Amino acid sequence: MENQYDVIIVGAGVVGNAIARELSKTSVSVAVIEKELDVSMGTSSRNSGVIHSGIHYKPGTLRASLNVLGNSMMADLCRDLKVKIDYIGKLTVARDEEEIKSLYMIKEQGEANGVPGLEILDPNAMEKIQPRVGGIKALHSPSTGIICPYSLTIALAENAHANGCHFFLGHGVTAIRKIQDGFEIEASGKKLTAKVLINSAGLYSADVCRMLGIHEYNIYPCRGEYLILDKRLKGTLNVLVYPAPHHGKAGLGIHLTNTVSGNILIGPSNEYLEDPEDYACTADIMAQLRKEGHALLPELKTTDFIRSFSGLRPKQTRPEVGGFKDFVIEDREDIKGFINLVGIESPGLTSSPAIALMVRDMVGKHLPLTLKNDFIGTRSGMTGHFHELSNEEKADLVAGNPDYGEVVCRCEQITKKEVLDAVENPLGVRTINSIKYRSRAMMGRCQGGFCLPRIVQILEKEFGYRPEDYLLKNRISPLFLGKMRQDTP
Ligand SMILES: Cc1cc2nc3c(=O)[nH]c(=O)nc-3n(C[C@H](O)[C@H](O)[C@H](O)COP(=O)(O)OP(=O)(O)OC[C@H]3O[C@@H](n4cnc5c(N)ncnc54)[C@H](O)[C@@H]3O)c2cc1C
Repeated sequence: MENQYDVIIVGAGVVGNAIARELSKTSVSVAVIEKELDVSMGTSSRNSGVIHSGIHYKPGTLRASLNVLGNSMMADLCRDLKVKIDYIGKLTVARDEEEIKSLYMIKEQGEANGVPGLEILDPNAMEKIQPRVGGIKALHSPSTGIICPYSLTIALAENAHANGCHFFLGHGVTAIRKIQDGFEIEASGKKLTAKVLINSAGLYSADVCRMLGIHEYNIYPCRGEYLILDKRLKGTLNVLVYPAPHHGKAGLGIHLTNTVSGNILIGPSNEYLEDPEDYACTADIMAQLRKEGHALLPELKTTDFIRSFSGLRPKQTRPEVGGFKDFVIEDREDIKGFINLVGIESPGLTSSPAIALMVRDMVGKHLPLTLKNDFIGTRSGMTGHFHELSNEEKADLVAGNPDYGEVVCRCEQITKKEVLDAVENPLGVRTINSIKYRSRAMMGRCQGGFCLPRIVQILEKEFGYRPEDYLLKNRISPLFLGKMRQDTP
């Protein structure tokens, strides 16, 4: 019946969507409820995009085991979902004797977690991997990778959707009632029921707990700010470069991260906040990141900084405690059918496919999970972008569809066909950011200065958009307030 599901997942981040896709392989009916107008609008699009190796987490914890398993699953998953991934490796660099001790400590920890190929390098060996890296020793972890986090999150959702999972976007869950055989959920005026309810609400996971009378969890948002560098510096970094870890810090330290699109990120900072929606980037932190960026990459120029962004870690530890707590992933005994995920901070992106397996097994204790014969595990389309293809491949595509021959976003070389595909996405999302995250248009040096007006024209001409239809990301972010003047006849 309408709005009655076997399983409902609250939250369409990378974890919720990975669970949805895993369950969509089986016979259960699944819905994902998301308060934002698109998937991947929370922490899942605001992070370093690193597929961690698993050196940083204590053996025996969920963060360690799910990280290592998630890392090993990611290559096949990305191949199937047409998401770019690159296992480029990482150097964790020590600058003094104290830091060298911490390198040996994380090497031992990584080996206990089953991380392959770890090696401590001297400056000569470091120089071969990354010229001018600085530091007196480094730990090399070759299984560290990079990925576009929102591409993965969107791909998981689209694949789950293609396999029958329903998405209720723009529906914030405001109340949950335990009923005899499951749960009644209220979300933006809609009432839905589920036999099993999964809380994957990230920064709001403790609030969802409270809706069911669970008061033992608190989330303390901890902001990490980043600077994005121009693609001019593409190729400067062969590997990721992290500082040696320091006990009690809330993150892994400010580092340089390549992105799969050819930019470099500097960040993230660490700052506890009250407001789980405060994604501001602040002058002080920007100045600190510029300074640390210059120290790590001397060839950086002021004009290389093209944009800033921030993400919020859903920490379970108070500011005065810092450090990390393990993921909470529990099948609640006191509330039958409630599977609860709290504090999925880093390495949640890396761990997402492994978390999905763990949660699937928990669901299997409540509902029979029969594998479907008609599950489609792959997505169509291309991995990456038109401009990355060979000339022959480009010519073939343009011959089949001239919209591939028209470049709309000059900075990122994104074609009209790629923009049209992004507008016509399977989840039916129609915000400007949904086009940006799916096509990469507006993500280059000019940040949409040139291509946004062209995209507006496309939306008006080909999709009949009116001024009030253009939303940046949510219902309170209109792009236009009206016309300045009337069109002349
Ligand atoms: C600065 C930073 C750097 C990081 N770097 C890395 C990294 O390099 N590698 C790595 O593995 N991990 C990294 N992480 C961690 C990773 O980003 C997270 O673990 C992961 O994105 C968590 O995904 P999620 O789906 O649990 O949460 P989210 O992406 O936050 O998704 C939760 C969703 O729930 C929705 N929601 C909340 N409340 C409700 C409600 N009441 N009703 C409906 N929907 C609701 C939200 O809108 C949101 O979309 C980093 C995190 C940060 C902040």
